[in-house]
Amino acid sequence: MARFASLVLDIPTRALTAPYDYAVPEELEGDVAVGCTVLVNFSGRPAVGYVVAVSDDAPEGVDPEKVKPLEQVLAPSAFCSAQARLGLWMAREYAAPLNACFRLLLPAGQTVKVTKGDNGWSLDGSVPDAPEDRWVALTEKGRDFVPRANALRQREVLEGLAEGPQRLADLAAVSPGARGAVTALEKKGVVTVSSSLKTGAVDETSLSSARAPRPRVLTQGQRDALSAIARAREAADGSVVLVDGVTGSGKTEVYLQAIEETLAQGRTAIVLVPEISLTAQTVGRFRGRFGDEVSILHSRLSTGERRQQWELARTGHSRVVVGARSALFAPLDNVGLIVVDEEHEQSYKQDQAPRYHARETAAELARLHGAALVLGSATPSMESLERCREGSWRGVPWVRASMPERPGSAVLPAVSVVDMREQFRDRNGSPLSAPLRKALLETHAAGEKSVLLLNRRGFASFLMCRDCGCVPTCPHCSTSLTYHERTRELACHTCGSRWPARAYPDPGTVCPSCGSRYLGAYGIGTQRVEDELRALLPGAPIVRMDADTTKAKGAHQKLLEEFDASPGAVLVGTQMIAKGLDFPDVTLVGVVNADTSLKLPDFRAAERTYGLLEQVAGRAGRGEKPGRVLIQTYWPTHPAITSVAQHNRAAFVRYEMAMRREADYPPFTRLGNVTVSSTNEGLAERVVTQVADELRAATAGRPGWRVLGPTDCLKAKAKDRYRRHVLVKAPLSADLGAVLAEACREVDSRGTSVAIDVDACDLM
Ligand code: ADP
Ligand code: ZN
Ligand code: ZN
Repeated sequence: MARFASLVLDIPTRALTAPYDYAVPEELEGDVAVGCTVLVNFSGRPAVGYVVAVSDDAPEGVDPEKVKPLEQVLAPSAFCSAQARLGLWMAREYAAPLNACFRLLLPAGQTVKVTKGDNGWSLDGSVPDAPEDRWVALTEKGRDFVPRANALRQREVLEGLAEGPQRLADLAAVSPGARGAVTALEKKGVVTVSSSLKTGAVDETSLSSARAPRPRVLTQGQRDALSAIARAREAADGSVVLVDGVTGSGKTEVYLQAIEETLAQGRTAIVLVPEISLTAQTVGRFRGRFGDEVSILHSRLSTGERRQQWELARTGHSRVVVGARSALFAPLDNVGLIVVDEEHEQSYKQDQAPRYHARETAAELARLHGAALVLGSATPSMESLERCREGSWRGVPWVRASMPERPGSAVLPAVSVVDMREQFRDRNGSPLSAPLRKALLETHAAGEKSVLLLNRRGFASFLMCRDCGCVPTCPHCSTSLTYHERTRELACHTCGSRWPARAYPDPGTVCPSCGSRYLGAYGIGTQRVEDELRALLPGAPIVRMDADTTKAKGAHQKLLEEFDASPGAVLVGTQMIAKGLDFPDVTLVGVVNADTSLKLPDFRAAERTYGLLEQVAGRAGRGEKPGRVLIQTYWPTHPAITSVAQHNRAAFVRYEMAMRREADYPPFTRLGNVTVSSTNEGLAERVVTQVADELRAATAGRPGWRVLGPTDCLKAKAKDRYRRHVLVKAPLSADLGAVLAEACREVDSRGTSVAIDVDACDLM
């Protein structure tokens, strides 16, 4: 009986929205399975396809005899049918090209392309061999071990290892019988064989908390969270548990124990962490608990290294995969638990096609596998909080487990706010206020450490009054207006309204709210702060961490180790210092400029600022000694600031939810963003207008839909391309991706590039 395969063709076009069916020739039946890469004849042209389903039945309504056969199997199975369904879901949900979604599922380094030449079809690229995944190393005892004189094979192996660890495959290649010798030596305790390999920048290190032992007693919050997770796993329906715990409350410990339980049931686990917190510290904690069972995937690995980690998961050697976004697509069987740490992080939204959100995609994968999804954060997203309040989302239960306390003696730091308007009136030109200077001196004198955060988001794109902190905002959208030098206008990037910026930047301009003349673009750099610190604390170890100092591979890690090892040190940096670092001897955290990010023309500005402050404040007092936090701001009354100071997140959430509901923003609606860019300004304008017209026509009369714009993007021109966008608000139940994709297909967009962003996070 004939078999049929359903294929996603690797053709980069949005027009291809569904798989195609091909017949499986009898001689290939043994080789064709879900996840295989195959070669087909697509309307007379060769094409590569990925098998998403195999069936005994011919496609409906088609004569089985007429179904074209596929030609050849190019690569063995790389993904399972749950992952195949995930790929199809992503393409529809995010209006993304099908082939781009499926490429995420392929092993690193697989690049099969097919071209038609004079002599017929030819294949380019490669399917690399799976690398050997076992490494052999001498143990302490092995260094002095002398094998029996007639144990020639063992002798050869030991000689090979004298220089350092070797791949088992390499040993076997030069010495037949090496595998048997290695097994014998392993039994004697002379060598170790392991699949845990050095993985570039994420080696285990000696950082203090990487060594944290398993606690003997869990807090009540941790126990409750673990039983909620166990129930979610038993439900086997993709149930979600939001572990809502202050920094240092022991969320990571909860993940570790939930993973242990999952492994004990014979299932596997995926842990997503933001790329930036994928540090040796994090990796060390997982390795410390699960040893060789962990694969690590992150963007700093070479293709070979990534391929190796991928292969460890595929072959079942590692049953836990820890990584950034892409770890979601690791080839694990029988996934029982998916953890998304710092679930509120914006970096979970991919900013190139396919523009998927890793948290939402994880929820779909958990549903497909019947796994539990655990989301963790000290500052959960408004989306997750709202779904937990509702109790479900898309038919799946969502529950919140709250962990309001830190274990043991660690207490929440005391937070105070420094009103920079006062400081400015004192004509203290330094970015460091008098109270912050005093605290830095005291902390250093006590031999303790400080962390200083410089908020770089929203850098100098707005006007601010240095006397009252006022920034002009749009009356329709409550987002900050940005200043356009070219047209001397203040513009709203959400609705497109514009106002003349009166005489600015003439010196005669005054603040609309207090009449002050100290109105200007606002900004300071990390270098400046570092210089101030060196003058304030001569001889103190000062570690600066920003985009400039962390360019080199492993630099991030080195700076952290340096900070860890230097008593009395100060770490100064941008938001990259705010996340996940756990140093017990940091007792002071200073925020140099808390509000720059509050003034971004983005409805998430307050949420992000609040989250950043809360995260960085959580760096203080993680050990025995109490910590304190000083927040410098021109806007001391904003709820994002006062809520951090009073440790009152509920107040912030109430404020923020009310704002969102009022203005019809997520989590109460879905938001889509279509950006059209072109080097030809008129063309970009024409195409975006057509897209907006199509969207208006498609959604006219449908309740809850609104089309806003088109307007300039915040970055109205980037790399010589003019950028225009149109925003769509849709009801929560809307099939937003499909509507956006359909509207864009109707428009002739030649000469422009059109980016569809569903559930857009970054509206720049
Ligand atoms: P989070 O991930 O919420 O920031 P962690 O899991 O990193 O918190 O825990 C913070 C610190 O507390 C770590 O050093 C961890 O080893 C320790 N810890 C976690 N749970 C417990 C517990 N039940 N008892 C004692 N210490 C704990
Ligand atoms: Zn003012
Ligand atoms: Zn507006």
